Amino acid sequence: MKETFCPLCYSALEFKEVTPCMECGGDDFELDHYKEHKYAEYELYFGQRLILCNFCEVDFGSFDPTYFGFPPGTKIGIQDFNFIKEISDKALRKDKFCPECGYRLSFLKFVETCKRKNGK
Ligand SMILES: [Zn+2]
Ligand SMILES: [Zn+2]
Repeated sequence: MKETFCPLCYSALEFKEVTPCMECGGDDFELDHYKEHKYAEYELYFGQRLILCNFCEVDFGSFDPTYFGFPPGTKIGIQDFNFIKEISDKALRKDKFCPECGYRLSFLKFVETCKRKNGK
């Protein structure tokens, strides 16, 4: 990975230890609780894959769809997820993280691709 800047807000990225969840994995609070969560890989939106914890999976529908470039009012959420597999390896890993957006680079890239595919 050669990205140094956030694909959404262009802030400088930090390199940090993260949990398997691509969405909340860079959250410092999560680093104390990640072992209590379950993780699974899903395919959603434009053939992309995300590994999410059980909380982020359930919460996904509360995102504003326009964050991903979908038209306002679009229903998004677990009904769009295709389950791929459980993730049993809960070990911490390293990823880049945007302190402004609060997400790991893997999630930011997912958002960026959704926006691009949606023509935003
Ligand atoms: Zn999560
Ligand atoms: Zn950012």
